[in-house]
Amino acid sequence: MGRRILHYEAAVQALGWEIRTYRLVMIERRLITVSGVVQGVGFRPFVLGLAVRAGLSGFVGNDGDGVFIEIEGPTEAIERFVATLAAGSPPLARIDGMTVGSVPVRGGTGFEIVPSMAGTGRAVLVSPDVRTCDDCLRELSDPTDRRYRYPFINCTNCGPRFTITIRTPYDRPQTTMAEFTMCGDCRREYEDPADRRFHAQPNACPACGPRLWIEGGVGSGDAIAETRELVAGGSVVAIRGVGGFHLACNAFDGDAIAALRERKGRIDKPFAVMAGDLDTVRLHTLVDDHEERLLTGRERPIVLLRKREGSGLAHQVAPGIDRLGVMLPYSPVHELLLQPGDVWVMTSGNLGGEPIVTGIEQARRQLSRLADAFLMHDREIHVPVDDSVVRSHRGAELPVRRSRGYAPFPVRLPVEVGPVLAVGGELKATFCLARGRDAFMSQHIGDMENLETLEAFERAVRHVKGLFRLEPERVVADLHPGYLSSRWAEGLGLPVTKVQHHHAHVASVMAENGVTDPVLGFSFDGTGYGTDGAVWGGEVLVCDFDGFERVAHLAYVPLAGGDASIERPYRMALSHMRSAGVAWTEGLPPVSACPPDELSLLARQLERGLGTVATSSMGRLFDAVASLVGVRHRVTYEAQAAMELESLAAGAIAPPAFAFTVDDRQRPWLIETSGLIAEIASDRSAAAAKARSFHEAVAEMIAHVALRACRETGLDTVGFSGGVFQNALLLYLVVDRLESSGLRLLTHTVVPPNDGGLALGQVVIGG
Ligand code: ZN
Ligand code: ZN
Ligand code: FE
Repeated sequence: MGRRILHYEAAVQALGWEIRTYRLVMIERRLITVSGVVQGVGFRPFVLGLAVRAGLSGFVGNDGDGVFIEIEGPTEAIERFVATLAAGSPPLARIDGMTVGSVPVRGGTGFEIVPSMAGTGRAVLVSPDVRTCDDCLRELSDPTDRRYRYPFINCTNCGPRFTITIRTPYDRPQTTMAEFTMCGDCRREYEDPADRRFHAQPNACPACGPRLWIEGGVGSGDAIAETRELVAGGSVVAIRGVGGFHLACNAFDGDAIAALRERKGRIDKPFAVMAGDLDTVRLHTLVDDHEERLLTGRERPIVLLRKREGSGLAHQVAPGIDRLGVMLPYSPVHELLLQPGDVWVMTSGNLGGEPIVTGIEQARRQLSRLADAFLMHDREIHVPVDDSVVRSHRGAELPVRRSRGYAPFPVRLPVEVGPVLAVGGELKATFCLARGRDAFMSQHIGDMENLETLEAFERAVRHVKGLFRLEPERVVADLHPGYLSSRWAEGLGLPVTKVQHHHAHVASVMAENGVTDPVLGFSFDGTGYGTDGAVWGGEVLVCDFDGFERVAHLAYVPLAGGDASIERPYRMALSHMRSAGVAWTEGLPPVSACPPDELSLLARQLERGLGTVATSSMGRLFDAVASLVGVRHRVTYEAQAAMELESLAAGAIAPPAFAFTVDDRQRPWLIETSGLIAEIASDRSAAAAKARSFHEAVAEMIAHVALRACRETGLDTVGFSGGVFQNALLLYLVVDRLESSGLRLLTHTVVPPNDGGLALGQVVIGG
């Protein structure tokens, strides 16, 4: 079927009629479907080029499942075509699946790209937004090019994708570029298979594409030059970018940054910066090879780098910590705005705790109090996407926030799941929609503590559902009865599975490492609802995707007045001291930090247990120690005390002077902190040395518990998850102690260890 003999190819000697060879050429036609990231990445042009070069006829198109190809010609050529298709696809493409089947031969000549079809099958993958490619950068700076200094230059290999995609299949009418009609020149490029912009959906030029303008400038007419002038003069400019607005100001200008902090109500939470080029980054931070690759990669995340002290950047950028979040320009607008030597604060344009602002009107309304001027453009942002944040850990990527450049790229699951939605936790909310082995982790949405974020969450769920034609049949949520996300999940009318927070953390690190067999998991974070109603956070679990057993945990101490004790680490220190039998002696840092009235109130509260809840939180222990060594008594942002403690410890060398004790007379083992607290309280070393010793002690305890629990349970794999493992120093010290133990160590390289990665674990447990 589907075959016919086209001709006998006979080579006949002209004279003598001697037949030298016979060759039978079989003509066949095949239907090939390709799934994965194959739309918006130049896949169809690639197929066309391949087919034309091989002399094959047929067509290629996008549908809701990916790309379909019909190809006709000699068997051998078809087979070569299929092999090249799989091996040599374009840089941004990722093939997840391919089917090849025979169909009846139709004859015909030539190969063409046919219009997209809707399709109704499996998920088509949408490419994340990609930084400007080198070819486009060259044209951007070439005075003879028709796109010289055009702020929206892009091609098949670069430009906006996810943020402009309204629905799939990914084609111009389905994106926010639909409203721009291509001019003749752009149209020609778009239709020319030999052109770099062949079927580049966001293709545009100064004659036909989006434009840039400034509001609140001086009226010189050059929006880029005016923005540069304003920033240089100390103004804050709201810049509409790829996934939303940034608030920008000069990172050398302490007054400008102080003004921005004042207006944003952001007291000392670090700002990220954008530097003009890599050399500029090197002037202000210490960058190793791996960090350089992270900085210059196509995702262009914010990379947390070690500061070079005294480099001239204003200390207000990231006070109190030794790291600086740095990114390089990733859109043509940024490329035009920042020159070598420039460093600008670039922080998400939003009101405290709310989602990033994307719309022009919304920005005029909500950001006018924060910004002196607006750099606007008219390419609509359909999907709000914040900048991603990563650290480097032993030559691997340690994600802190997985968003632009990464979302909505799926995470490959080690198990099959039904159509399922996992709604994550509360802080750093992300959700995960999954089916089969594809887990679509959403972009970072924000802290789910207000209506605006919940609405953004709902919108994002709707969008991703539509994009991947994925209708969940069940929903997974955190066990915490008070989480907005959990309550929202219950209102969906679908079967709900509740998953314990720390179990989900360990499952997430298992899933991204492809592990399904039981592991020993260290799940250390600030807060998670425990099955006994306590606030968990220092948990050692034996678990797989079906269940968990609590093997060990930090001994409970009272958390007095929930939020108050989270915002004021000295309260946690005082609670730990009291539990450890350490007197609240005048002169000890937490005692001095606590106002006298509060001190006596707290004493009564702890005594009677009124308004307190038991906690085994490792995050709160870091807070307590930060206060105890005098580093930080009040925090203005999440994990501030722990980050400052890590910064201090990273610069110090000290022996492990403190130790936890493990009480193994019962299951779960109790990891006692009283000895450690007493030691730290009486130690007379400098704060940095104590901070370092504390980190060493935590690492030592982890190694001890890991070795012992693995020996007893026969497990050979240990996972590390939870926000505490965003602490690269701690992770380093732990791996250092365990890497020669023969145990397999699982750390995060795909999703964040913090609650931003929680939904992935929820999916594999509940799906
Ligand atoms: Zn390009
Ligand atoms: Zn044009
Ligand atoms: Fe957590």
